[in-house]
Amino acid sequence: MSLNPEIPDLAPAEAPRGETAAIETLQLWFDGEVMSHESARVPLTTHALHYGSGVFEGIRSYATVDGGAAVFRLPEHLQRMRLGAAAFGADFDVVLAQEATLQVLRANHHRDAYIRPLLWFGTGGLALDVGSLTQHLMVASLPWKSHLGEHRQRLSVSPFRRNRSAALPPLKLCGGYVNSILAKREASARGFDEAMFVDDDGFVVECSAENVFLVKAGRVTAVEHADALPGITRATLVELTGAQSRPVALDELLDADEVFVCGTSAEVASVAAIDGREFAAAPLTRELQAHYAGIVRGRESRFSSWLTHV
Ligand code: PMP
Repeated sequence: MSLNPEIPDLAPAEAPRGETAAIETLQLWFDGEVMSHESARVPLTTHALHYGSGVFEGIRSYATVDGGAAVFRLPEHLQRMRLGAAAFGADFDVVLAQEATLQVLRANHHRDAYIRPLLWFGTGGLALDVGSLTQHLMVASLPWKSHLGEHRQRLSVSPFRRNRSAALPPLKLCGGYVNSILAKREASARGFDEAMFVDDDGFVVECSAENVFLVKAGRVTAVEHADALPGITRATLVELTGAQSRPVALDELLDADEVFVCGTSAEVASVAAIDGREFAAAPLTRELQAHYAGIVRGRESRFSSWLTHV
């Protein structure tokens, strides 16, 4: 099983696993209105469709132990989206997006869900200057179940290089995901679950949609790289484990006791192999998976500030 199987019509780049949603009955928020997914329409001359001129987020909500639901680290996701919007000079109202997210979850009666906000440039021309184009915002949610720890991932070092941050800021800009799509396709064609990017100097960057960690002699290290997305799950796990964040060469990663990858959709996923290198059971990763699962479901009150109740 891959981290990134596709879902008909709505297929988040980084991957919801799990249920196929009944798309026709889903509600989404589009430019200020809650409407059915089916009735939302955009013109074929939409700028973002041609050039990837948009920015998105991948966010999770979870059913919580108190019987309700909460979005995990919603403000952090929306702040990152604001940075992506700013790269295009687009306006992004974090408060509006937060309200839209809660509205769409309530409209769909979703608790365990994957949330996809997207801001994009619409119509007004197909030249590359986006300043005068229409801007749009939508927020969709898909029902989603956690599969934490169910499948250990088989990674392969990608023949593709990651987008350099000097060429494309490591934010969730739509067009930048073509790089991930190509790498992912190539790894899947060779029978792997996921592609891992390594740079020209042999340093690990990240996977197509996850950040990378290693465990050696009980110490946790978070792979740091200027070309990698500053992951919110990564920051969460650094805080939980006290991991050292630093550059890691591929040789060091292959020599680790445990490797795991993390992301909003992947959560904490144990790595079974990187190409021919197999990793045995991963006790510390398993512990961390359980800890993370408890926190996102509101079992630990000291992390309650990370939850936005729906
Ligand atoms: N790297 C990339 C390229 C991603 O798309 C993602 C998923 N957003 C991640 C890392 C993990 O980031 P986060 O934990 O914020 O979801």
